[in-house]
Amino acid sequence: MTQPDRNLELFQRAARVIPGGVNSPVRAFKAVGGTPRFISRAQGAYMWDANGQRYVDYIGSWGPMILGHGHPEVVEAVQQALHAGFSFGAPTEREVELAEAILQRMPSMDMVRLVSSGTEAAMTAIRLARGATGRSKLIKFEGCYHGHADALLVKAGSGLATFGNPTSAGVPPEVVQHTLVLEYNNVAQLEEAFALHGKELACLMIEPIAGNMNFVRASIPFMRRARELCTEHGVLLVLDEVMTGFRVALGGAQSVYAKQIPGFEPDMTVMGKVIGGGMPLAAFGAKRAVMEHLAPLGTVYQAGTLSGNPVATACGLATLRLISQPGFYDALAAKTQALTSGLLAAAQAAGVPFSVDSEGGMFGFFLMPDLPQNYATVMQTDSKRFNHFFHSMLDAGVYFAPALYEAGFVSAAHTDADIAHTVDAAKSIFASL
Ligand SMILES: *Cc1c(COP(=O)(O)O)cnc(C)c1O
Repeated sequence: MTQPDRNLELFQRAARVIPGGVNSPVRAFKAVGGTPRFISRAQGAYMWDANGQRYVDYIGSWGPMILGHGHPEVVEAVQQALHAGFSFGAPTEREVELAEAILQRMPSMDMVRLVSSGTEAAMTAIRLARGATGRSKLIKFEGCYHGHADALLVKAGSGLATFGNPTSAGVPPEVVQHTLVLEYNNVAQLEEAFALHGKELACLMIEPIAGNMNFVRASIPFMRRARELCTEHGVLLVLDEVMTGFRVALGGAQSVYAKQIPGFEPDMTVMGKVIGGGMPLAAFGAKRAVMEHLAPLGTVYQAGTLSGNPVATACGLATLRLISQPGFYDALAAKTQALTSGLLAAAQAAGVPFSVDSEGGMFGFFLMPDLPQNYATVMQTDSKRFNHFFHSMLDAGVYFAPALYEAGFVSAAHTDADIAHTVDAAKSIFASL
């Protein structure tokens, strides 16, 4: 007698009470088909589903679980915080500590405000950029995700003069009429857009290493030019480091770019994911002159009942403390590279077109011979092949992101044996592709 599939049972039950059975669309496995795994618990590099099947987890809650699941020092910090109270709606010392910890590690900012989600942080960063500059328009790039604020759910219009069209029902066209969507890594288009609209732009928002179209780096010339154009036109350069912040390096992706572009700094930074260590916590920050436009000092309104939540800040602080130990990122990057080079060798041995890139504990792989530079190229991936690879790996106990446009994440808890198991599984699957 076969065991009942608890994942399937739960998915069917969930679908009756939650739209699509999930509380965030990618979890529904719509891109890859099949039944989403309902996770019952996780520890270290592993998650267990409702059937008791174990997976090596390369999602890590989409980035936050950089230490692996249930790190004892983080659990201890959260437990202590819980006993002192869940939420006060009044300021706490730990918020100050977390703000100081973030600013110390990312010197481009003088002040931060803590919020509860990346969406909220990006949405407010745009409001602040508009309030601080007195301008309305903004640039974003195709394939970059900055959460689901209305003004950011937008795709390119028919030309550089026409601005964007909503990508979601429920977003009136007027709401995105100030959002200009450009192609990632296209310097000529960027220059043209600034020539046309430079003086009306409040900000340019970008994922420096885009993790929402798998893994695509902004090229050095592109990022350098973006910085120059923003400075020339008084436009705020906003790096969305919700995914990359404290994930690719302790100083975020901005520290990676600063190594190659002397003096490089964003005007504003949006953070989330790792800074909460798996709890709802995000932030945005900038220089003092910009941040002082925020209420209660200035005229740009923002607020949050659970902002700077005492349990979330305890989790974030404990996480930041642990990832700041010397050598942490070198070791994490080495693990990630062992994985990516192993996958590449396995694909090459089987004659499967494959390319792969990583920075710190974040990686992406493509079933194509060369690394793509923009969203349109990413989406040329053979999705049937990807889905076959994804499901075969899942059956082998390896949980990669269930969509070809998502990045992957390695944690400090992944062992050599986990990576070897992953590469071995990939070897036999590539041979069958
Ligand atoms: C995840 C993500 C967001 C949105 O964060 P949420 O906490 O899911 O709202 C924004 N920007 C980037 C780059 C992200 O990866």
